[in-house]
Amino acid sequence: MSYCAICDCNFYRGKVAAIVGDETEAAVSAAMMTKYASRTYWVSADVKASAVAKEKAIAAGAILLETTIERIQGENRVSSMVLGDGSVVDVDGVFIELGAKSSADLAMDLGVMPEMDDSIKVDRQCGTEVPGVFACGDVTGKPWQVAKAVGEGCVAGISAADFVRGKMA
Ligand SMILES: Cc1cc2nc3c(=O)[nH]c(=O)nc-3n(C[C@H](O)[C@H](O)[C@H](O)COP(=O)(O)OP(=O)(O)OC[C@H]3O[C@@H](n4cnc5c(N)ncnc54)[C@H](O)[C@@H]3O)c2cc1C
Repeated sequence: MSYCAICDCNFYRGKVAAIVGDETEAAVSAAMMTKYASRTYWVSADVKASAVAKEKAIAAGAILLETTIERIQGENRVSSMVLGDGSVVDVDGVFIELGAKSSADLAMDLGVMPEMDDSIKVDRQCGTEVPGVFACGDVTGKPWQVAKAVGEGCVAGISAADFVRGKMA
């Protein structure tokens, strides 16, 4: 089981993987997984992904199963999933890609408006459109990876300190 396709896709090279989720994120993950897994299922009972993302996933070879997963089975490791119609599909791994609540709410309270994709636009100093408000990490957009979050965190922290010192000078 994994909750991060971009983090763990390489572990499923040549294996059978299932991506579970309705939104565009799940479709994008399914398309990416086809480059690693020998077979990729995309399980979604209610596809809400953008039409483009859905087409890309299917064109890449993802097999869309428009149903629910009732149960994930296995001893220590995943071996199969039981679908809504009772059928059993053998899989080596299941990726839960149900999305996550954005952290942008706090930004809006501070007067920073997120972009259409919910990310917060920043400049090279990690400054937002509001002077004195800095942003870093997942909230500024992809890639959602620790390395980017830590790097931007460093930049934002130094910028915030410079801003405060400038204000105090
Ligand atoms: C299951 C999973 C596996 C992952 N595996 C990897 C991996 O292998 N390698 C990798 O590089 N990345 C991985 N990631 C991504 C990585 O965790 C993120 O990119 C990273 O944690 C982003 O750091 P961040 O500080 O931007 O956000 P977060 O770590 O999400 O921190 C944001 C913090 O802000 C808090 N917060 C939100 N709103 C408010 C508010 N209004 N007031 C106060 N606090 C608030 C939250 O509670 C949270 O503590 C994984 C992510 C998940 C979910």
